[in-house]
Amino acid sequence: MANQPTHREFTLDVVRQLQDAGYIAYWAGGCVRDVLLGREPKDYDVATNAHPDQVRELFGKRKTLEVGLSFGVVIVVGTKSAGNVEVATFRTEGDYHDGRRPSHVAFCTPEADAMRRDFTINGMFYDPVHQQIHDFVEGQRDLGNGLIRAIGNPGDRMREDKLRMLRGVRFTASLEFQLDEATAQAIRSMSSEIYVVSAERIAQELKKMLIDRHRANAMSLARELNLFQEILPEWKLGEPQYEDDWTNTLQALHLLDEPSFELAFAALVQAVHRHNTANGLEAEIVSAIVKRFRLSNREHDRIVWLVAQLPTVETLHQRQPSVWKRLMSHDGFAELVALARVVALAEEQPLDGVLFCEEMFKQLSPEQIAPALLLTGDDLIQLGLQSGPDFKRILEAVRDAQLNGEISTADEARQLALKL
Ligand code: ATP
Ligand code: MG
Repeated sequence: MANQPTHREFTLDVVRQLQDAGYIAYWAGGCVRDVLLGREPKDYDVATNAHPDQVRELFGKRKTLEVGLSFGVVIVVGTKSAGNVEVATFRTEGDYHDGRRPSHVAFCTPEADAMRRDFTINGMFYDPVHQQIHDFVEGQRDLGNGLIRAIGNPGDRMREDKLRMLRGVRFTASLEFQLDEATAQAIRSMSSEIYVVSAERIAQELKKMLIDRHRANAMSLARELNLFQEILPEWKLGEPQYEDDWTNTLQALHLLDEPSFELAFAALVQAVHRHNTANGLEAEIVSAIVKRFRLSNREHDRIVWLVAQLPTVETLHQRQPSVWKRLMSHDGFAELVALARVVALAEEQPLDGVLFCEEMFKQLSPEQIAPALLLTGDDLIQLGLQSGPDFKRILEAVRDAQLNGEISTADEARQLALKL
């Protein structure tokens, strides 16, 4: 049987081939951190002193892709089981003029490459062939002490790339580490400049923070550092009436169990929506927030729907079957109930609506929730009705009657339509 290399084995082999050809080559960055923490890295990155064209020469043009060539990155293509690996030439980055990206890159030693990375725990190399750590930034010490610390001068490093401020929050929360005080100070003093980072990059970080189980701590730390207020000013955190909402929101976020990003985001902003609708303020606020982050239409629609429907769950057990059956046939229903559950728990509100939904969802078959239509628009035309505004009203009324169990045959449906 042909052996199927894992991603790890494949990247180790890439390192070995580079070394056999006389180059320096290591695993680099986040994967080293994860290996030293005893966690399985999402992916392994390779760093080498071979230049991009030498990497392509060694592995062959057909087995390599030149994405990010100007950054010295070549992708070496592996088998289906192994995936691909990014092979990056050790590089320094020129000045950051805009707080977002370097003006140019230059190839350099491993040590200088380590210096351009963001945090010490992300700045190490590991030679998997000789099983040796190459740590120029005291990353091992900080990893042992559970500390997120910028490499070099924290102020300079945050100024270069402002996204690092949010990355610092994310790593601190998700690893359950402490944020080094000087690094925290630098972030606090620069938090208002996070806006120079593109909405997409901010959203990407927010996504990673919200799907991680440490999401509540991440939001709490982001607030302490004044970053949260910058990226979500709609949460008027200076105002005392928002404090209880904030405490409850953190609790709701904490209670979510492996939520999608959309669900966690809805939990994060539902209180803002509620506050606005209760006070006659802008009702489209969540839509506006989501658009500012340039989320996809799918994400937009789901988040807006969840937030808008949340209040209906509470009293759903007192409504007609047609109301809750319609809601149940929406493919976001399970997420809606999960949201309603954590919000009710956090606010110590009764769970009747939630329990009712959970029970009905378990008991009823899809056919019971959304039975086949008894009557269509074509049927109405056959009955001699003109298509027009009344059409929809009649069809919906017939559907309601069906869902409420008042009618169950096509004949009854036609009779009701004629009466209407
Ligand atoms: P994750 O587990 O989220 O993938 P990671 O550390 O692997 O974490 P990546 O974004 O995949 O993060 O980046 C890989 C490595 O590149 C980092 O470990 C770090 O060394 C470096 N890096 C990434 N983004 C930056 C940045 N904005 N500034 C400096 N170095 C960075
Ligand atoms: Mg990574």
